[in-house]
Amino acid sequence: MSNFGTEQDKVNCSFYFKIGACRHGERCSRRHVEPTSSRTILLSNVYQNPRHLNPNCTLTDAELQAQFDDFYQDMFVELGKIADLVEMHVCDNVGDHLIGNVYARFETEHDAQRAVDALNSRWFNGRPLFAELSPVTDFREACCRQNETNECNRGGLCNFMHLRLPSPDLARELQHELQVENRERRRERFAREGFLRLGWKERLAAQEAEAARHGFPLPPPAPRHWRDGTSGGDWRAAAPEPEPQPAPAAAA
Ligand SMILES: [Zn+2]
Ligand SMILES: [Zn+2]
Repeated sequence: MSNFGTEQDKVNCSFYFKIGACRHGERCSRRHVEPTSSRTILLSNVYQNPRHLNPNCTLTDAELQAQFDDFYQDMFVELGKIADLVEMHVCDNVGDHLIGNVYARFETEHDAQRAVDALNSRWFNGRPLFAELSPVTDFREACCRQNETNECNRGGLCNFMHLRLPSPDLARELQHELQVENRERRRERFAREGFLRLGWKERLAAQEAEAARHGFPLPPPAPRHWRDGTSGGDWRAAAPEPEPQPAPAAAA
């Protein structure tokens, strides 16, 4: 169906499809088709903006940003430990279905499922986490365009994502650390899964690289004579017959 999940789709809810959350929730007249696999997950209502909790909040903008940066870093690092994280976004909307939502996109569907399984038994800040696979694939589509130019007149009650961004320095630092960590994890996975497919030279090189990374030398190979050992037979057995040598001259 070409209009699946669009505003013209009279069956499926375009808000759920695009933003992963709809203000009607389970009472929505259109269908919310939960994905059976996705690279994106949603953690509902996790970030707690002190200004949303308490209208008399006296935090300055700078203090609020520092508090948010702490939250963002905590969450980002934790998600990055579970699986190969690609991006993470935090909603600053105030509507019940979007408030404090954290969306995370992973390298593979397998990574996202692993994250959902791991997070559903975890707590954050004294509250249980609720994780689910989300249909969101494109955060540009999910975000409110007007908010990006400060022109959204619906404010926090908008039904598109109003993201709260980490400080640029923090965002850069976290991206860098993430790349290093993901690369490391891929290398370890390869070492585990790809090791047995390697030739002996590559195996040795991989072992040496692993040892160097952990800062300890490999144990020296056990001394072995080529004639020892139980299998493989005699590798010289198949050697071609030596060329017949000319008979030594008969002793005079
Ligand atoms: Zn809906
Ligand atoms: Zn908006």
